[in-house]
Amino acid sequence: MTPNKDIFCAIAAKEEPAFIVSENSHAVAFLDREPATEGHMLIVPKQHANDIFDISEEKLAAVMSLAQQSAVALKKIFGYTSIILHQVNGEGAQDVRHFHLHVYGGPHATPYFYQQFSTTEDLNTSLENTQKRIVNEFTFLK
Ligand SMILES: [Zn+2]
Repeated sequence: MTPNKDIFCAIAAKEEPAFIVSENSHAVAFLDREPATEGHMLIVPKQHANDIFDISEEKLAAVMSLAQQSAVALKKIFGYTSIILHQVNGEGAQDVRHFHLHVYGGPHATPYFYQQFSTTEDLNTSLENTQKRIVNEFTFLK
């Protein structure tokens, strides 16, 4: 893929499968495939931006709006006592060079939640169930 057509661009364009849980006009929320805790989401702008230095204020606002709704949904569904937002910027520091904000419940689970699944199938089944619960919660919020 070219620098302007990465996996998150493809997910946002619905060209790559993902466990999407919600979206608004400029951002999409989907489950991380290696969740630190159950319900771990990534929020990305639909239109490509490399990082915080590259994203427009309007798109950033859309990402944050979705992050806030996601935090509310995660807290309600899973009863987390804290919600963590983390986001990394810079070439070489980002695993995918497309702005992405992690939203997940805390405190940190050790080992990471996804490591309890011995097969990708089991993990996908769990992600599917989590997706349904969160989509349902977002529907309720609207
Ligand atoms: Zn991109």
